Amino acid sequence: MSTMNMKYVQTTCPYCGTGCTFNLVVKDGKVVGVAPYHRSPVNEGKLCPKGTYAHEFINSPDRLTTPLIKKDGKFVEASWDEAYELIAKKFKSFKPDEMACLASARVSNEENYAMMKFARGVMKTRHIDHCARLCHASTVAGLAAAFGSGAMTNSILDIAQSKCCFILGSNTFEQHPLIGRKVMQAKMNGAKIIYADPRRTPTAKQADLYMQFRSGSDVAILNGMMQEIIRNGWEDKEFIANRTKDFEKLKEVVMKPTYSLENVSKISGIPVAQLKQATEWFAKADSACILYSMGITQHTVGVDNVKSCANIQMVTGNLGKPGCGVNALRGQNNVQGACDMGALPVVFTGYQKVIDEAAHKKFADAWGFPDGIAEAKNGYEVTTMMDVLTAKPGELKCMYIMGENPMISDPDLTHVEHAMKNLEFLVVQDIFMTETANLADVVLPAACYAEKDGTQTSTERRVQMWRKAQDPPGQAKLDWVIFCELAAKMGYAKQFPWKSAEDIFTEIAKVTPSYAGMNYARLNKPEAAHWPCPTADHPGTPILHGAKFANPDGLGVLTPLEWKPPAEVPDAEYPFILTTGRCIWQWHTGTMTRRSPHLEAEEPTGWIEINPEDAKALGIKDKEMVRAITRRGQVEVGARVTPDIMKGVMFMPFHYAECPANRLTNNALDPIAKIPEFKACSVKVEKIAEAK
Ligand code: SF4
Repeated sequence: MSTMNMKYVQTTCPYCGTGCTFNLVVKDGKVVGVAPYHRSPVNEGKLCPKGTYAHEFINSPDRLTTPLIKKDGKFVEASWDEAYELIAKKFKSFKPDEMACLASARVSNEENYAMMKFARGVMKTRHIDHCARLCHASTVAGLAAAFGSGAMTNSILDIAQSKCCFILGSNTFEQHPLIGRKVMQAKMNGAKIIYADPRRTPTAKQADLYMQFRSGSDVAILNGMMQEIIRNGWEDKEFIANRTKDFEKLKEVVMKPTYSLENVSKISGIPVAQLKQATEWFAKADSACILYSMGITQHTVGVDNVKSCANIQMVTGNLGKPGCGVNALRGQNNVQGACDMGALPVVFTGYQKVIDEAAHKKFADAWGFPDGIAEAKNGYEVTTMMDVLTAKPGELKCMYIMGENPMISDPDLTHVEHAMKNLEFLVVQDIFMTETANLADVVLPAACYAEKDGTQTSTERRVQMWRKAQDPPGQAKLDWVIFCELAAKMGYAKQFPWKSAEDIFTEIAKVTPSYAGMNYARLNKPEAAHWPCPTADHPGTPILHGAKFANPDGLGVLTPLEWKPPAEVPDAEYPFILTTGRCIWQWHTGTMTRRSPHLEAEEPTGWIEINPEDAKALGIKDKEMVRAITRRGQVEVGARVTPDIMKGVMFMPFHYAECPANRLTNNALDPIAKIPEFKACSVKVEKIAEAK
C-alpha cells in the first residue's frame, strides 16, 4: 500500500475521562485507523479497546449530513438557512425562562463555552446543564464543600506512587483501563490494592483485598473505617490540627456504636475481618489514595458519599502530596471540561457563581450583549428540567440539546419520554440520529472529534488537544460554527466573532482564572497542562491542596455524616437491589461504540447479572430471557447467572436501547447535587422463556 497519501494526526481519545493520546491514521483525506502515540505521559502509547477502535464510527454511513426539519411527523432535508430561520423564529417566540439547553461532555471546551455563551447571552436563559448531573454532580458539590475545589485532587501518573489504593464504586480496570494500569504499577511497587464493590469485576480480580458489599452502604463503611482508625490512634493528628476543622463534630458521629465494624458488617455485608484488614492497610500506608467513580456518586446520598471520602483522607492526612488524594474518575472524555466551561446551571467558567454579582457583571461586560445576559439566578438541573416538564406543563417549552441522549442516559425513561413530548420545540445537534434526536423538531448535523481542532479536559484536569484529521461529512458543521451562525441570524454576530477554536480558547483564558495561563502553543505539547494554571509562567497543578485547601480560610472541612439507606429498599414485592453500570466494550448510550464493529461484536446486547442462589430460587437458568420489573417499568433481557454478583443484588449495563436499564432506574435525587440514584433501586425478575 502506498503511504503517499497517508498521514498521522495526533489527537485525544473521545471516550473516557482518562485522556489517552493516539494518532488518527488518515488516507486520502479519510480517517482509516488508530496508531499509537508514544509520547503521551498518560498512556505512553497504550490504549484500551475503545481507543484502539476509536476510528470506526467516524465514517459510519449513517452519520447525519444535512439539517432535518420535522414536517407532518417526518424528517425532511433542509438547507442550513431554512433550519436557522426556523430556530431563530422559534427561539424569539419564547420567554428566556421557557427555554433550556443541554451542553455535552463529548464535545470540546470551546464548543461547550460557545453553547454556554449562546444560552446565557442569546437565549438569555439560566437553564443550562449537561450529563455531569448524571455522573459526578456529587463530586463537584461534595469536594467543593470539603476542599473548596470540586475536582480530582491528584494526577493519573501520581497513582503509581501510592502505597495503598482504595478503589470503591469504580470498576477501574474496565471503565478507565489506562488508570487501571497505574494501579497495577503501584501494586508492582508494593502497594496494597483494596476494592469494594457489589460485583466481582475485573478490578476485584486484581485486588489484594476484595470486599463485596450491598450497594448504598458507603457512608457506613467509611464511618466504620474512621472509627477503627481513631480507636487505634492511626489518625494524622498534625494534619487534622493544622489543615482541617470540625474534627470533634466528625468524631461524635463516627464513634457511635452504629459504626462499629460489627454493625457496619451487618449494614454492608462485608465480613468484620475484611473491614479490619482494609482499615489497617489504608491507615498505616505512607501514602494512600482513594479512587472512586459513579458507584459513589449516583445515589440520593451521593454528596454525603463524596464528603465521606474527603473525610477519611483528611483524617489520615492523605492529601496534597504524591500517592494520595481523593481521585474522582470522571466518565466522559470532556465531562470535566464541560463543567469547567460553566455548562452548569449555577456557574460561569471556572466555577464563578452566576448569583455572585461581581461574576455576573464580569461576564456581562466581557461579552457585551447590548440587551444583557440571563439574570443572576441559578437555573434548572437536567433532572429538574424533566420534572418541571412533566409536573408543570407549559413552564418549559423549548430545549436545545447538543451531543446528549437523555432518552437512554437519564433515569426512568418513561418519565423522560413524557417530558420530551411535552416540549413545544426541540432542537438536537448531534453526529447520529439518536433516540433523543428522533423526537426533535429540528436536527442539526455536527462534526465529530476527528473533524475539529479544540481542547478537552481529562479527569486529572489536564487540558489536551484535538486536531482535525478529516472534513466533516456532507454539510455537517463544527458545533461552535453552528452557534456563531445562529447567533448572527438572531442579531448577535458581534458577540460571536471567532474564526477558529483557538480564538475561543483565547477568550476562555481571559475570563477563567484557572485557565488564564494556557494557550494553544502551550497545550500543543505531549504533557499539555493541568489547571489551575493562572499565569503564563505557572507550571500547572498536577496535585491540588499542597499547602492549603481552596476554601477561603484555607482549611479542609470535616463533615459529620450519618448513613442513610437508598430511597428504595427491597421489600416483599420487589425483593432485589438493581444496580447499573458499563462494560469495557461499550460506551454510555452506545451512539459511537455500537457503530464500531469490533466493539459491538464483543457485547452486542444487554444482560442482567443474577447470583446463582437467587437464580435457583427463581428457577432461572443462564442465558434465559427474563423480565426485570421495577415500579417504573419493565425490560426483557437475557439472564447472566454468575457468582460475580452478590446474592440479593442484580446488575444491568445501561448502554442498550433494546433493553434499557434506565427504564427501570429510580429518579429519586440527591437533594444537593440533584443526581439520580442509578446505583440502587428495588427490582423483581420473572422468567419468560427457556434458553434457545
Ligand atoms: Fe480512551 Fe479511556 Fe481507553 Fe484511554 S482508557 S483509550 S481515554 S477509553
